[in-house]
Amino acid sequence: MNSPFLLSAYEHCNRDGFWSRDWEKEKPDEHQFMQKCINAGLCTSEKNYGQYAGEEAINLGAEPGLRTESLNVYDEVIHIAHISDLIVTALRKPNDKPWEMAKEIPLDNGTIWKSSAYLDPSGTKLRRVCLVTNWSDDRHYSEARSWYSLGEVCAYGLPMQQVVCVLGARRDGKRHGYWSKGVLHPANKKLRFRKRNDVGTNFKESWNTIFREDRDEIETETWLQAMLDDGVLQDSLFNVDIQVPEPIARQMITDTAARRLEEIYSLKATPPQQFSTCNWPLPCVYRGCCNRGDSPSGKSGFVPIEQVR
Ligand code: SF4
Repeated sequence: MNSPFLLSAYEHCNRDGFWSRDWEKEKPDEHQFMQKCINAGLCTSEKNYGQYAGEEAINLGAEPGLRTESLNVYDEVIHIAHISDLIVTALRKPNDKPWEMAKEIPLDNGTIWKSSAYLDPSGTKLRRVCLVTNWSDDRHYSEARSWYSLGEVCAYGLPMQQVVCVLGARRDGKRHGYWSKGVLHPANKKLRFRKRNDVGTNFKESWNTIFREDRDEIETETWLQAMLDDGVLQDSLFNVDIQVPEPIARQMITDTAARRLEEIYSLKATPPQQFSTCNWPLPCVYRGCCNRGDSPSGKSGFVPIEQVR
């Protein structure tokens, strides 16, 4: 389990962090699933890396599967495959080497920092792909100060390119953003995008709303070019630079990370429950077993993970 995940879980609820040290859900949720597909596409040496990301979705959909409340799991997997293909194709340039994960490093107290970030081939900056439903000032500061961004930047002493992908709202197992949904002209089949706040762009009723996965005849590059032409690509994909803080602040943050990781790894007994965070900001994955007074196990859909110290 990577360090930013563990630290975030521990800050959410000490018991969440303690259990996340040793257990994870067998099936990834939609966000984790898409991150795995994007990771596969960014890190592959295959020439068609976008398609590779999509194929990874099919593989993961078969084993271990997708954890979703949606009734049609197969359709959702295909939906994610197409979004992942588009995102990877937009992120990686044809001459780019495969992206690499940053290597583990020891912090000052010897605790290992296991990264969730990518290291640029030049070795001079980190990269992170941040998948969000929507973006706001609050979200900007929340992500910029998270262990996934500020924590990584302080651990390595390197700045980060935090790439934000705005996916749109998720309903019935589908994302309703520009990566997945557009409108087609009824006659010439031109692909356009219905911008939420642009009152000047009116599409007649006859324009057909389409989802990406239903239109294999539209090339990935054509979809991305249409996003660019309609001015929605810059709303869906943008960069936030995270700088390395000054030395005193950086030391304070890495010391906090080192102390807290050591605390998590040395925990022997299950910490008390923290009820105010069971359902917020997201439903805790341990609600079922925790509320029954149980610990995570195979029976409740968890699998043990290797500990990193
Ligand atoms: S269900 Fe609540 S108390 Fe239990 S681990 Fe999750 S947040 Fe903590």
